[in-house]
Order: sequence, then structure tokens, then C-alpha cells
Amino acid sequence: MVDNHRGLEDSATMAIVMQASRFALDPTPSQQRTLASHAGAARFAYNWGLHLVQERLEQRRVDSTAQVPWTLPELRREWNKAKHLVAPWWAENSKEAYSSGLDGVARALKNWSDSRSGRRKGRPVGFPRFKKKGRARDACRFTTGPIRVLADRKHLQLPRIGVLKSHESTRKLARRLEQGTARILAATISRQADTWFVSLTVEVQRHFPVSNGKLTVVGVDAGIRHLAVLSTGVIVANPRSQEHQLNKLRRLNRQLARCQPGSKHREQTRRQLARVHARAANLRRDAIHKLSTALATQHGMVVVEQLNVAGMIRNRRLARVLSDAGLAELRRQLSYKTAWYGSRLVVADRFYPSSKTCSACGWVKGKLTVGERTFVCATCGHIIDRDLNAARNLAKLIDHVARSGRETLSARGVDVRPGLAGLATPKREAGTGSPRVGPAPVGA
Ligand SMILES: [Zn+2]
Repeated sequence: MVDNHRGLEDSATMAIVMQASRFALDPTPSQQRTLASHAGAARFAYNWGLHLVQERLEQRRVDSTAQVPWTLPELRREWNKAKHLVAPWWAENSKEAYSSGLDGVARALKNWSDSRSGRRKGRPVGFPRFKKKGRARDACRFTTGPIRVLADRKHLQLPRIGVLKSHESTRKLARRLEQGTARILAATISRQADTWFVSLTVEVQRHFPVSNGKLTVVGVDAGIRHLAVLSTGVIVANPRSQEHQLNKLRRLNRQLARCQPGSKHREQTRRQLARVHARAANLRRDAIHKLSTALATQHGMVVVEQLNVAGMIRNRRLARVLSDAGLAELRRQLSYKTAWYGSRLVVADRFYPSSKTCSACGWVKGKLTVGERTFVCATCGHIIDRDLNAARNLAKLIDHVARSGRETLSARGVDVRPGLAGLATPKREAGTGSPRVGPAPVGA
């Protein structure tokens, strides 16, 4: 079994991919003001640009020669003509702040027109709306000027804002930059609750092994009671303090509902809620990072469920939202980590009844309520934990990596030949299509 993958390392491919590295910052009070000022400037430019577009669209109704600025260069030209008048304080912030806001307008307009003309898939995108202070995300993107990770691995330098202390070590990225295998293209500062972050867009030279030498298939059922249950029987527990955070979230949500709209108390509760939310999300993300690395390095193939996006929007229960968000994050991380480490990601068709099928005999139960934690098979009498049953069924989509054969998959698992698709197509309740093998290895 384990004899045919020697030398696979040699056939690994090198590729340049984009990755994002995010660092929490420890800005000084004066830097906090500068960061907020830049985010505010970006929002101002966004709203100004959008207002201008609306005005020109109105004009064009009566005068067909009226020019509507629609792209970033056009919007920037208009801004440079108007800034002395509409924002005499413009020089206080980097010009990148205004550019970043206008870029937001141009993108939103493009999404809207693409969506209207059918060039964009997914839910219809509405006409861009104004960004309200305190509601919209505070962010600003820098694409030019000095963006550096300092040699002490504790500081970052941004244009205009200067040298910022990073809350976390920048070691991994710094090392790549020093070795010359990475290049920073842009930096986005953003605020989440009370914390400022910088997210660096980095071009990285990466090595994509053809295989990690593992022949095992693992099915993963991501959930809320546990972070995940693996078909191997391993239960990956939730981050320890999550239950505590969830209780806090529930309590604050109730409190918020009772607050007078517009009151000081409400604002306080809202901020507290945002902090707890951010902390819970970060905890979960870190735990998911550990899980996805383990999965991608220890198994040849990882099978997950497809995310039910429509259901995600409809169902607003907190637990459900969190578990869906967790699955989305796991999928996102697995899609690039499987490529990094030479394993493959298989996404089960949305209609594959992984929870309702008996993993022992294949019998499909008609109905399974959310409350049923144990699967009891009416045909063979198999009794098994619901999540473990689902994970086992996911793993069964592919019997063995060896069966699929190296040659049926492209080096990075980007596409799959019909042979594997056929092999991996189980009985389904409805729907067409076959399991998809994970998307291209483009980092976050
Ligand atoms: Zn059975």
C-alpha cells in the first residue's frame, strides 16, 4: 500500500499564491486616533463618491451627456477636483484613505451592475448604500508606500501611521520576507469591537506537494455540540470557554432588547456585545486552525459537507449561526491547507443525506429531527451517535485514496476526472452533480 508514493516530493509544484496575514495591534492612544481618522476618511470618501454618482445619475435623466464616474480612476479624478472644497482637512490623512473609500464605491457599483446583468452569481446585489458611522466596518486599505514587518518581529510599519506594535509575533511572515519567498502587496487596517487589526495581503511562493503520503480518508461533521466529529471516532471539543461566551452573548442580547433605543445604556451594551462576539469568533477560529492543519497533514483526503447558504440566512438561531460559520471557516481553511500539505478536499453534495443514512447498512431514514442525537437504524439495528454517523457517511463517499488513484486527481486537487466523480457519487435524495474536489489553492 505504502510503496508507490516515494519520490512524490520531487514532483511537487511551486506556485505563487496570495495569502492574508492578520495581526491584532496594540496602538498607542495617538495612533488609535490616527487609525480611526483614516477609517473615517475612507468612509467619508465612500459616501461622497456614492452621493456624486447618485447626483450624476439624476442629472443624466434630463441631460444624456452627463458623465457618471463609475470606475476608481474616474472617481479619483472627481475627488481630486472637489477635495479642497468638500474636505479642506484632506491632508490630515493619507491619500490612500480616500482612494480606499472610492475603491469601495467602484466595487459596489460593479457588483450591482454585474448582478443586474447576470454576470454575477448568487443573491442579487442591491444598489450601494451609504455607510453610517458606528454601523459600517471601520477599515482603510493601503496599497502604496512603506508597508513593512520590522526585524524585531514585534512591529509593523504602515504609511502615514508609522510603526505599530503587533499584539502577536510576526515571526512566520517575517521569516518568509527575509528569505525572499514573500512580498507584501497591501495592508488593510480594520476595527473589530475595540481592537484594531492589520491584514496584510502577501504574495507567497509556495511549494505544493503532490501528496502528503497519507492514504486515509476522513469524514468531518462540524457542529455546535463539538467543534467536529471525525469518522475515525475522534471528537474535537469546542474551545473551552465557548459555553461561557455563549451564555454571555445570550444574556447581553436579552439586555440589549430591553434597552431604550438611543440610550447610553444601549450603546454600552452594544459595545460589550461586540467585544464578546469578537472574542468568541476569535477563539473558534483559532480552534478551527488547529483542526484544519491536523486534518490536512494527517489524512490523504478530507470529506466535508457542503454549506447550506440559503438555510444559513434563514435560520437565525445563535447556535446554528455559529456552527454554520464554523463550517464555512473550516471549509475555507481546508481549501488552501489541503493544497499546501498535499492532501485533497472533497465537498459532499448538499443533498447527500449524511445524517439520515445508516453508516452500517446504507438504509436512509425518512425523517430525522434536530433533537435526535442518536441514530437508530430500523433495518440493521445499528445504534450510533448522530454526528459520528454523519462523519462516517462523509468518509464513505470515498472508500480509499488508493482507490481513486493519484492519476485521477490533478496535483493540487483542483479538478477531478469523471472516474472519481463517478466513484464518489452516492445515492442522493435529490439534486444533481457530484461531490466537488476542493477549490484552487488560493490563500485567504
Ligand atoms: Zn443500518
